[in-house]
Amino acid sequence: MKKFVYGLSEGNKDMKDLLGGKGANLAEMHNMGLPVPPSFTITTDACKAYLEQGSEPEELSAQIDEYIAKIEDENGKKLGDPSDPLLVSVRSGAKFSMPGMMETVLNIGLNDASVVGLSKVTGNDRFAWDSYRRLLQMFGKTVLDIEGEKFEDVMDEAKSAKGTTSDLDLDAADFARIVERFKGIIKDETGKDFPQDSKEQLLEAMRAVFRSWNSERAILYRRQERIPADLGTAVNVCSMVFGNLGMESGTGVAFTRDPASGQQGVYGDYLQNAQGEDVVAGIRNTMSLADMERVDKAAYDELMGIMSTLEAHYKDLCDIEFTVQNKKLWMLQTRVGKRTAEAAFKIACQLVDEGKISEAEALQRVTGDQLVNLMFPKFDAKAEKKRIARGMNASPGAAVGQICFSSPDAVLAVNEGKKVILVRRETNPDDLSGMMAAQGILTSRGGKTSHAAVVARGMGKTCVCGAEELDIDVRARTMTLKDGTVLRAGAVISIDGTTGEVYTGEVPVVDPPVVQYFEGTLSEADIAADELVRAVDRIMKIADKTRRLRVRSNADTPEDAARARRFGAQGIGLCRTEHMFLGDRRPLVERLILAESDEEKAAALGSLAPLQKADFVEILQAMDGLPVTIRLLDPPLHEFLPSQVEMAAAHAVAQAKGHDLEADQKKIMAAVERMHEQNPMLGLRGVRLGLVIRGLFEMQARAILEAAAERRQAGGDPKPEIMIPLVGAVQELEIMRDAITKVAAQVSAETGVDLTDVPIGTMIELPRAAITAGEIAEAAEFFSFGTNDLTQTTWGFSRDDVEGSFFSNYIERGIFGVSPFETLDQGGVGRLVKLAAEAGRQTRPELHLGVCGEHGGDPQSIHFFDTVGLDYVSCSPFRVPVARLEAGRSSGTAEGSDFR
Ligand code: PEP
Ligand code: MG
Repeated sequence: MKKFVYGLSEGNKDMKDLLGGKGANLAEMHNMGLPVPPSFTITTDACKAYLEQGSEPEELSAQIDEYIAKIEDENGKKLGDPSDPLLVSVRSGAKFSMPGMMETVLNIGLNDASVVGLSKVTGNDRFAWDSYRRLLQMFGKTVLDIEGEKFEDVMDEAKSAKGTTSDLDLDAADFARIVERFKGIIKDETGKDFPQDSKEQLLEAMRAVFRSWNSERAILYRRQERIPADLGTAVNVCSMVFGNLGMESGTGVAFTRDPASGQQGVYGDYLQNAQGEDVVAGIRNTMSLADMERVDKAAYDELMGIMSTLEAHYKDLCDIEFTVQNKKLWMLQTRVGKRTAEAAFKIACQLVDEGKISEAEALQRVTGDQLVNLMFPKFDAKAEKKRIARGMNASPGAAVGQICFSSPDAVLAVNEGKKVILVRRETNPDDLSGMMAAQGILTSRGGKTSHAAVVARGMGKTCVCGAEELDIDVRARTMTLKDGTVLRAGAVISIDGTTGEVYTGEVPVVDPPVVQYFEGTLSEADIAADELVRAVDRIMKIADKTRRLRVRSNADTPEDAARARRFGAQGIGLCRTEHMFLGDRRPLVERLILAESDEEKAAALGSLAPLQKADFVEILQAMDGLPVTIRLLDPPLHEFLPSQVEMAAAHAVAQAKGHDLEADQKKIMAAVERMHEQNPMLGLRGVRLGLVIRGLFEMQARAILEAAAERRQAGGDPKPEIMIPLVGAVQELEIMRDAITKVAAQVSAETGVDLTDVPIGTMIELPRAAITAGEIAEAAEFFSFGTNDLTQTTWGFSRDDVEGSFFSNYIERGIFGVSPFETLDQGGVGRLVKLAAEAGRQTRPELHLGVCGEHGGDPQSIHFFDTVGLDYVSCSPFRVPVARLEAGRSSGTAEGSDFR
């Protein structure tokens, strides 16, 4: 019989697949001897079976009975016993944390009889009836799908009847009346009574948790966080402990280090006389942990001890949920905590210094995406700005946008191309779409552990929360400042998630210290003074020491080349030459296209050649001593001519005015028409151009080689490599290669500099090239995978068209989780890359392999390129540090791919 239920002593922290993160860590804490309320966990397998079949496995019910009996024994109480009931919570817990995305039902075991028993044994009538109404409310909303507002309206009525707005002013009799009304709502809405049987309550709650795996918001969150959709959630059934028994009880959330800044020292929020959801929901403002020491020193001291035990055990920042019931501390959850990018780098280095982890482990504690986050611009400290509020610095960054007061408004505005700040009193899981769309999030309520803060940090979004001076009226769509000024939806504000400050208007941004560090503009003293920069420097050194892959940059100007070099690029993997044919050189290209005789063509090429040579001299100089792969002209030539539509319009206007186009305008128009293609990306471009426009590639090759000779003669160490794009057959390459080899011999003879060993290679951008790579390698000294075109041609997607038109539909329907132009499609395009790399090396073992498509800067793709044995990745200058880091992380893990 398959086991679907595990007790605490049967699990451990490594069983997250089966028990979910919460269940696995509860078991771990129990095994460490920490105070965890008696609990058991229903596995993710049970959830998967339920979602597949629409009902739970048959054997589950009996297994649950067995474990209920165990926790009843441990508690010395029976579930739902009318005289002294054991109550349990039913909570979701997936392998990866999905805060607030799935369901929880508390106080299972209460019914019309046991509420009386609970009130007697606790001597607290109010508590018992409040607990029962919470059960009815949660059960009604999450299990029975009744609109939450129906219950809230009753609560509001009860409060206004008493002339109050606070739950705390309601007494036992009020709650008893509310309970009756809640039961009425349930009966009216479902046609059935609220189940009085505890086991039935438990099973129904469990099923609701299972179903919540596929709730809209959970699906959205998984997509955003790239969590696989088929993991399912576990369900944790825990004996209830109560933080709402009075002022000697309470509940809180704590971190062993500051998850926002990475600062050492404990950190968290505590709320007296409250249940867990009250803290996370950010409904009431909390006290800091330091204040908890004042109100309950014994529990506080025990908590501190447990926190350091947990850190030592997990060797990482832990976050913790706890409850104090009548001064007794209980641990309800722990996990390795989410943190900001800044905190991730700092904490990784702190843990190395504390001897808790090795340098190799530190490298796995940060990600390329986090590094990108640290390279975002920040507000210019010198800019004039008007501060309107200060809240908590919940998630760092600088965000500017128009105020939007609701998630739908935010999504709408962003779809119209606007930048927005989502402004709410507090957020809840339904705000996810707005939070994703917004530049940043601002709330007036809640602490650093509120929903807004936790989710924003998870997303790497700027967030300021708990800015209490702001009076936010979401219905009226206004935000009133302390001085009475009213800001309306659409007003522009700037929020600083690093300091918690809020400004009116748009504050200008500057490069953050991490970018200055990569730029080399920080002094040693500046670096030493900044813990974050120091940490980045240290981790980058570890990554560089560890990585096998080299990192080059895509750069086609001397400025980009120089920046790439400062950022650590070890050469240029792709120097595109098309921009060198634009601007004031365009007329020369026109002359080339319009040339009718060989002489005219030679003259046009002759006037382009010295300009090209000058371009290459500068780039080779900027990259002196490092390889520079220069790609010969790739795009269809007509891209350098005026558009057909424009020409036709000019012609029509001229005709309407009764005159005709000038003679050369006419010639150009004829050329435009002659060269028009239905599918230019599949037309006359790449090597095809070199073959058809005789002399064009030879001219470019000569310019490269002459530039190299000039640099060599000037004492430099130029290392050009000539790359031929869009080859599909080895014959194409052979013809171009022969032509270039001849040019190399000529230039060597003319200049006295031997350039015959300049490598000539090709891009692999077409499926046919990948499939025949073994042959192509006979004529190529290197391959560079052009994964942009290779993705385009493998999928048959026009990359300029599809991303904006139907990719969101594809992503929504799970055809792929992320655009294949962003992260390499390993199963399709990746297989071609692997196949071509292997076939190429079989022909020519020393074949040099790289990638220069956008994927060269994408973390997940970099790990793949490492595993298939490429020599280098090439990406835009700004992504070079990310690529260095991820290449290091890839080498540092045995499998090379587990970097979540
Ligand atoms: C590619 O196709 O991946 C590539 C780098 O070339 P381009 O993007 O210029 O077509
Ligand atoms: Mg290409």
